[in-house]
Amino acid sequence: MARDYYGLLGVGRDASDQELKRAYRKLARELHPDVNPDEAAQTRFKEVSAAYEVLSDPEKRRIVDMGGDPLDGGGGGAGGFSGAGFGGGLGDVFEAFFGGMSGAAGGGARKPRGRVQPGADSLVRTRLSLAECAVGVTKHLTVDTAILCDLCQGAGTNGNSSPVRCETCGGAGEVQSVQRSFLGQVLTSRPCPTCRGAGETIPDPCHKCGGDGRVRARREIAAPVPAGVANGMRVRLAAQGEVGPGGGHAGDLYVEIVEQPHDVFVRDGDDLHCTVRVPMVDAALGTTVVIDTIMDGPTELTIGPGTQPGEISVLRGHGMPRLRSSARGDLMAHLDIVVPSRLDSKQTDLLRKYKGLRVKDKAEVMSAQSEHNSGLFARLRASFSGR
Ligand SMILES: [Zn+2]
Ligand SMILES: [Zn+2]
Repeated sequence: MARDYYGLLGVGRDASDQELKRAYRKLARELHPDVNPDEAAQTRFKEVSAAYEVLSDPEKRRIVDMGGDPLDGGGGGAGGFSGAGFGGGLGDVFEAFFGGMSGAAGGGARKPRGRVQPGADSLVRTRLSLAECAVGVTKHLTVDTAILCDLCQGAGTNGNSSPVRCETCGGAGEVQSVQRSFLGQVLTSRPCPTCRGAGETIPDPCHKCGGDGRVRARREIAAPVPAGVANGMRVRLAAQGEVGPGGGHAGDLYVEIVEQPHDVFVRDGDDLHCTVRVPMVDAALGTTVVIDTIMDGPTELTIGPGTQPGEISVLRGHGMPRLRSSARGDLMAHLDIVVPSRLDSKQTDLLRKYKGLRVKDKAEVMSAQSEHNSGLFARLRASFSGR
């Protein structure tokens, strides 16, 4: 008699593949032997897994929908859910958990891995100057990678020969062996050493790639790097990574930015910092200086009268561009007041006169030691919290 596979999963007869998968995952999480050691749960887990295996296979599902049972007779007369047909049940569960589910293989045996595999992602690092990070650049890189074999176009075979079923594993892609342990005999399986899990071998392999379907080569790659990137960021180039075994579709290539330190500017996110030296007299009287910027050329910076050492003058919008945005960071000019180290007699005279003037101004007389909330400490605090 046909089993109620839909009822076991708790779905209607019109359930979509998505609904089937969702229902199965939910039950498998409750019933999986790793989380639920209860014997009844294990039995139900086997039943539920079998139901999912049947219903996720369009051919088997069709048999069920016509009133049949695709598992009848498959277990050598036993016909039960614990029959030999479900040796691969656990593997299928894990596939379902990790989203790699495709139609289950006939008879419930684990499917061979297949000769064609997706290629690996690769990573290259490239040095960029701060200016290149600011404006964006197309970097021409040479990468050592795996490309499709042009002789066999990935087939791995020579001429018109075809792959054949692996004799060692009979096409299963894995071999099983019985090991004795103190718990008794344990059946273990491992990838077939002859076909390395593919289930098939190539008797007459391609002369160029030896059957792998791909060859190592150096490739020139033009990597477009957008403006605003920073150290450690990765630019992803889809399908520019390694071609997979058997000509499987290429992985992605990641280009990691290694930002070189700049002589003048220190970067902090989108903001830039630099030091601007201002002569003592200019700081006192105020002036305008021209400083270099990363993207806008020489730019005027106003120094107000009475500027103190360590003050920061901000050029809004003259920092780094924000990635994928038209916004810009700021340029913070840290003002370094320069006291002349050598004075000629005329300058010394003038400063002495200036000093004489200042002493008469009572308001200017103050203690040489300032309090904590003024002077150096306050400026340090302001520069740490001001941004
Ligand atoms: Zn080849
Ligand atoms: Zn094999």
